[in-house]
Amino acid sequence: MAKSLESEHPIKAYGYAAHDTSGKFSPITFSRRATGEKDVRFKVLYCGICHSDLHYAKNEWGVTTYPVIPGHEVVGIVTEVGSKVEKFKVGDTVGVGCLVDSCRSCESCISDCEQFCAKQVQTYGVQNYDGTQVYGGYSDHMISDEHFVLRWPEKLPLDSGAPLLCAGITTYSPLRYFGLDKPGTKVGVVGLGGLGHVAVKMAKAFGAEVTVFSTTAAKKEEAIEGLKADHFIISKDEEQMKAAMGTLDGIIDTVSGNHPILGLLGTLKPNGKLVVVGAPEKPHEVAAFSLIFGRKTIAGSAIGGLKETQEMLDFAAEHGITADVEVIPIDYVNTAIERLLKSDVRYRFVIDVANSLKAE
Ligand code: NAP
Ligand code: ZN
Ligand code: ZN
Repeated sequence: MAKSLESEHPIKAYGYAAHDTSGKFSPITFSRRATGEKDVRFKVLYCGICHSDLHYAKNEWGVTTYPVIPGHEVVGIVTEVGSKVEKFKVGDTVGVGCLVDSCRSCESCISDCEQFCAKQVQTYGVQNYDGTQVYGGYSDHMISDEHFVLRWPEKLPLDSGAPLLCAGITTYSPLRYFGLDKPGTKVGVVGLGGLGHVAVKMAKAFGAEVTVFSTTAAKKEEAIEGLKADHFIISKDEEQMKAAMGTLDGIIDTVSGNHPILGLLGTLKPNGKLVVVGAPEKPHEVAAFSLIFGRKTIAGSAIGGLKETQEMLDFAAEHGITADVEVIPIDYVNTAIERLLKSDVRYRFVIDVANSLKAE
């Protein structure tokens, strides 16, 4: 008989889980593995709420295994290390993003692109190599092989820095890979949410000229004044979209909901690239001629490898890049998820786990 969540591993743990497609969270008792030689165990301090947590809790991608304990923007303090851990000691501040394991031997792993490893173990929603379910950062503590643990830069705040572990790397990586990190590059950012507002900050730090595409007129002032974006376009306004035709070198599309991309392709210069990072439920529709005329590319990008994630954290610390956050107690998570669905957050909820999650 399969062991219960509480007894399958030796170490007791607490968290918040969603149990069905309503995506409603409630407290849960479960267990985590004993510390292996290369494992780092840490007490969770802060955990960001990514829109992927919402997609997953509500089974919007059709792959959810319940109960699910999400959370992949996790900052904490090391409480125990295995005998062969080299990079960390008890008391260190650390971060864990979207991955907690991978095969370490495939072409992707060897080239520091663990995010493309076919055998990767994500931080929640999948099974570990031992066949047990993986649980994320909406919990009192976590454990991971040290390879997947990030060193937290001293200058980076813990609460507003936490979202960088997903939102930061997911936008930094494509800006770098697709050559949109050069001063003067004209970069579009679609959707001003958790990922989008960090994308604007990253692109500005690279010296790009940034155009925000949004559906929310109220975000204009915040984008221009607060985030220092150069232009703001309401993506549903045909006149504004027309005026921007052929102006951009590349676009990072962070939108979580179904939306048309034809107009966005029109705003690219010849050879321009539309990089999709947002993951709506329905497939995008693309007209062949929107790519043919102008030799345009549609690409995708997923988070980043561990080496690049560390590089991104160091870059963020150096340039003073953090997320704009609303810090909440964990029992506010259901309201936060409802508000996130309505884009009613500026711009990332971060759970103050250490001060609000208490054992039942
Ligand atoms: P978020 O904070 O909810 O932001 C999404 C933004 O998209 C909203 O603020 C809104 O911005 C816009 N939007 C939402 N629905 C829309 C619709 N139907 N039409 C047009 N615009 C819409 O979400 P997030 O945490 O940034 O995540 C964004 C997406 O990226 C999610 O799908 C998430 O799963 C995905 N993701 C992917 C990766 C990856 O590795 N590729 C990593 C993390 C997250 P405006 O109000 O400005 O229009
Ligand atoms: Zn995420
Ligand atoms: Zn691999």
